[in-house]
Amino acid sequence: MNSSGFTRRETLKVLGLLGAGGMWGSPQAWALPSVQSPASEQPTEVRRQIFAKVWQTPLVDTHEHLPDEQDCLRGPGGKPQEDWTVILRHYLDSDLITAGMPKDQHEQFFRKPLSPLEKWRLLAPYWPAVKNTGYGQAVRIAIRELYGVEDLSEKTVEKVAAQYETVRRPGFYERILCELAKIDSCQVNTGTFRESRQPLLLLQDISIVGMFAGPNLQAFGQPTGIQVKSLVDWYRVIDWWFDRYGKYATAVKSQNAYARNIDYEKIPRERAEPVFAKRIAGQPISPEEQKLLEDHLFWYAVGKATEHGLPVKLHTGYYAGQNSMPLGRVQGNPAAACELCRLSPQTTFVFMHICYPYYEDLISIAKQYTNAYVDMCWSWIINPVAAKDFLKKYLVTAPANKIFTFGGDYFPVEPVLGHALIARQGVALSLCELVEEGWLSLEDALSLVDPIMHENARRVFRIEEKKQALRSAPWARRPLPP
Ligand SMILES: [Zn+2]
Repeated sequence: MNSSGFTRRETLKVLGLLGAGGMWGSPQAWALPSVQSPASEQPTEVRRQIFAKVWQTPLVDTHEHLPDEQDCLRGPGGKPQEDWTVILRHYLDSDLITAGMPKDQHEQFFRKPLSPLEKWRLLAPYWPAVKNTGYGQAVRIAIRELYGVEDLSEKTVEKVAAQYETVRRPGFYERILCELAKIDSCQVNTGTFRESRQPLLLLQDISIVGMFAGPNLQAFGQPTGIQVKSLVDWYRVIDWWFDRYGKYATAVKSQNAYARNIDYEKIPRERAEPVFAKRIAGQPISPEEQKLLEDHLFWYAVGKATEHGLPVKLHTGYYAGQNSMPLGRVQGNPAAACELCRLSPQTTFVFMHICYPYYEDLISIAKQYTNAYVDMCWSWIINPVAAKDFLKKYLVTAPANKIFTFGGDYFPVEPVLGHALIARQGVALSLCELVEEGWLSLEDALSLVDPIMHENARRVFRIEEKKQALRSAPWARRPLPP
């Protein structure tokens, strides 16, 4: 990606690293090298202006899975933090398997305590095949910007492993997300709703999938203390989550499209009640009954979200993982999305991941339905060129106030930086090409940058209002545990 301008001419701005207090002397003394803007090396004035504007503009990140920083540093289950391969695990691990890496080598690479060189030997046969995919590029940009390493190799792997440890220290989330990636805030999706210890950086969505799929009596029911004996009790459980967290949450989110199409029908309560009773009694439920119950509860949860003014984010399109995606089902997502918009015009639906590879369909939905919004989260690393193509087409087809252009969609924080830089590159290129091809004036292109990179998200997800509420959230004022 060297013409992209992510070249690292000043490899490290060593001043920050070697502050007066000595390297990494105190939490205040350490800094990561800054990311160079590629604007000045662009070949034309149009490109220089657009790249400069895109590189200066903050991003509102509308979708992540990041744990809180202290949990990340502590490691899963309170164990020591994970080794450097975690930055490849999400999502590059899937490309490694589809490139042919055997399961046992994959397991050793990601899970076993081997030396960096031993791990490199496992990775080396597959690295040339995966290093240029979006997943691969996000990791490579991250190691270049964070560790000063141009590419992973036998020669550099030890440095990558060592620098990984050096960077992962208290404060590294803010350094990576805010200072380097210029991200204003993230919207994090977990199993239910997390009372985050970094509430203004890691805003949270309420997960609704367990409210209707299953439903997940344990995860959603237990924290409420409500004895669930009937469908009405389950409504009270759902209400509890919205009453407790609705004013702090940025949106609600469901990834139920991994299990079925998003073709939720409006089912009356009388038909759902006997199925729910069977579910409580642990009796078998047919696939038709399961769908009927899920459909009914989906609309109950969506109704609550709408009452609370929360947009409804739905996974559409491509599946994470490997060797599992039924593309025939995924192909049904756009038609089902139309029906959702039609059935509940008062609900703001956010269709995630540009429904890749059916992104042209999604543009037509955003053009047709007032309440259809599109989130480009994850798309820049699934297929960077398609994402750029999508954005170009979107901007000359559908209203520009209904698109969000970035969500990293990661568990580890390091590759969010790589993804954000790919997104900046893609946003800039989309606008440059629209100007160069004569579809937009330079002035019009420049005036789109703020709305699509952050203003739309601030407005639709009411970011300032949520931050205000979160400042006085009970969990934001609790002292940090040691
Ligand atoms: Zn996600």
